[in-house]
Amino acid sequence: MLCDVIIIGGGPAGTSAAISAARAGASVLLLERGRYPRHKVCGEFVSAESLGLLTNLLDRDHAAPLREAVRVSQARLFLDGRTLQTTVDPPAASIARLDLDAALWHSAESAGVDARQQTTVQSIAGIGPFRVATTIGEFRARALVNASGRWSNLNLASVEAPREKWLGIKAHFAEPCPEPSVDLYFFDGGYCGVQPVHVSGEVSSAGRVNVSAMVRADLASTLAEVFVQYPALYERSRGWSSLSDPVSTSPLIFRSPQPERDAVLMAGDAAGFVDPFVGDGISLALRSGALAASCLAPFFAGEASLPDTVSGYRELYERSLLPVFRASSKIRQMLRLPRTVRKPLLMLLEKAPAITRYAVRKTR
Ligand SMILES: Cc1cc2nc3c(=O)[nH]c(=O)nc-3n(C[C@H](O)[C@H](O)[C@H](O)COP(=O)(O)OP(=O)(O)OC[C@H]3O[C@@H](n4cnc5c(N)ncnc54)[C@H](O)[C@@H]3O)c2cc1C
Repeated sequence: MLCDVIIIGGGPAGTSAAISAARAGASVLLLERGRYPRHKVCGEFVSAESLGLLTNLLDRDHAAPLREAVRVSQARLFLDGRTLQTTVDPPAASIARLDLDAALWHSAESAGVDARQQTTVQSIAGIGPFRVATTIGEFRARALVNASGRWSNLNLASVEAPREKWLGIKAHFAEPCPEPSVDLYFFDGGYCGVQPVHVSGEVSSAGRVNVSAMVRADLASTLAEVFVQYPALYERSRGWSSLSDPVSTSPLIFRSPQPERDAVLMAGDAAGFVDPFVGDGISLALRSGALAASCLAPFFAGEASLPDTVSGYRELYERSLLPVFRASSKIRQMLRLPRTVRKPLLMLLEKAPAITRYAVRKTR
């Protein structure tokens, strides 16, 4: 059987593409290696600009994680013993990946997507139509969207081995009455984010925080080793008790975004991985998935060729999503400045919160 599109990966990018394409009338096969619900390494900060799209993607029966999400209206950046505070306006949502990915997955099923979990794509052949070999057999499609994330067996060839090895670690902890704030603790060799989060079905009124770190592998491999990197974080963590086993991922590699490869539309982290501290990865994944589906619609209707569709997607991706990558890489460069240069800059930012707000807005 030849379906219109196969989408590889059932994260925010893949499910966004699948739901959008299925609602537009396409026959969609969505293949996911893992199983939902599950925790994923993430700060769980969903920025405001994609909340409208998320509302639209989630089926009414599966919209509770967004409805019940903690709204994050403040950001505090802890760096070199100083605190920069700014508003997050409009507020972002804090949604546990345990709930978000599962809600999107079930919404895809409700939209009529043939969604299969525990199915790993092993190889791809063709440049349209495509043959996709998986652990449960071969499938064929007129178009292909690769939304298999940052580090998949399918994307390894395009990724150069990094000079420094970075890893991501996250877990949930109990903290009484956390403020509705995303708190980012920066230190040489990484950062750790802390924000309140709610998990579906939880009745306890005790507070829960998501703690996620991106850290150089030679500096830390556990959250306890991360906490000691910043005194105020260490003090805060002493009051926490564990609510979930930690999950980790590595390596974290930054490279120029690549929205298309061999006639395959790349979406989400598979297209490009943005610095996690800007909190825009989920938003970019949702937006690029939906964009891929809308670019494919004329192709399915016989009104455009696949090569034209793919180059149209690349153009739109570069116009609408590339600016986020550029802004976040500038902020990363600032954080890497030597401490002696960083200090006066921080003093200036402390006195002029409008500049901090502007910098945060530029990553949106
Ligand atoms: C430490 C850290 C903190 C972060 N914090 C934030 C944050 O606060 N806010 C934010 O917006 N972003 C954050 N991000 C980024 C965010 O997690 C990603 O950008 C987002 O998950 C991208 O979604 P995706 O759908 O592209 O990929 P993923 O969510 O990774 O989904 C890809 C899916 O593809 C599946 N897959 C892989 N290979 C195959 C295969 N061969 N066959 C079938 N399935 C396959 C995987 O199992 C996976 O489920 C953070 C990232 C890190 C590392």
